[in-house]
Amino acid sequence: MFAIPLVVALAVSQTSSMPSISPARIRATVDKLASWHDRNTNNPTLTEAANWVADQMRAIPGMQVELWKYEIHPSQRVPEAKEVVEVIGTLPGDTDRRIVIGGHLDTINMRVRDMVSGRAPGANDDGSGVALTLELAKVMAARHWNHTLTFVAFSGEEQGLLGSTALAKRAKEEHWPIDAVLSNDMVGNTHNTAGQSDSRHVRLFSEESLPASTHPHNSRELARFIEFISRGKIRGFSPKLVFRRDRFGRGGDHTPFNNQGFNAVRFVEVDEEYSRQHTDQDLPEFVDANYTANVARLNLLAASALAQAGPPPEEPRIDRAQGHDTTITWRTSPGVRYVVYWRDTTSPVWQGSKDVGATGRVTIPLINKDDHVFAVGAVNGIPVEAR
Ligand SMILES: [Zn+2]
Repeated sequence: MFAIPLVVALAVSQTSSMPSISPARIRATVDKLASWHDRNTNNPTLTEAANWVADQMRAIPGMQVELWKYEIHPSQRVPEAKEVVEVIGTLPGDTDRRIVIGGHLDTINMRVRDMVSGRAPGANDDGSGVALTLELAKVMAARHWNHTLTFVAFSGEEQGLLGSTALAKRAKEEHWPIDAVLSNDMVGNTHNTAGQSDSRHVRLFSEESLPASTHPHNSRELARFIEFISRGKIRGFSPKLVFRRDRFGRGGDHTPFNNQGFNAVRFVEVDEEYSRQHTDQDLPEFVDANYTANVARLNLLAASALAQAGPPPEEPRIDRAQGHDTTITWRTSPGVRYVVYWRDTTSPVWQGSKDVGATGRVTIPLINKDDHVFAVGAVNGIPVEAR
């Protein structure tokens, strides 16, 4: 079995009218962010850096920029209550359906006792993710999208995901119809002191939907879709899917969105260097901007597809009659084209796909329903498993 790359071809042609991702611009942003003594959420430096990011976003045509304020409360890493900011840039589309791309602006030095005062350049954690987010904002603003794109520089991550928790709560309360959250946190380090190195992959963490989710698909399906849509599209580079919420005992800004029932995934480098994290040694010289640029290209492929996906098919069902072929039916939306996907039950990724057009019923010959998982998606949309 092999994938028929119709969907991928569409996504790529739609990115051709945009400027390309620039490693040099990513480099410049990382350098600028690391030039602050720190960007600790408790310190005025966080606000200064947020103002700088907001100014960068305001310079992008069509971008609506909000310096959003929320409250943080005393805890182990928060000496006193205060109001802090995070940066939210939005490119309105024709619909309210939304794709969120982000990284966290704040940094921490955990080697100093108060975890507030130390030098914390945070070039990789997470200057790299913020630089990627800003680069994607610049590139994607060059054309109009069906759906709305939101670019976020989170704060309060190092104090316990405070900024993403606050924003996910707001998104839920304001009924943002978020299709996907792409969190990029540490996407620039390619070598570690154990002698390992990998600049050809980025890990993509995803978890199953929580039972409370009312969404028709889930984060795992989002991750699988990102792998599918990007297959063979970035020379020498691909995502490595990890079917877990996050790294062992660690957290990231995707998780509060998952907890509110949204599809959210995390990109993170393969070979972390633990000795530099949360220290004064998280410096720009350890960020490979060419690598970060490839992660940005992966985000771009995913966001470009999702930003023009039709509504998902409703209730895809596998016909129960015995047979060698598999027939799938679903309720359609007017004018929407669909793709059917299948894989072995043990395969983490889609192995076959077929663009079936604007129909609500298809028979896939000689692929049986006993040994395969099937799904249906609108073209460019996250597939929904057929049951
Ligand atoms: Zn981080």
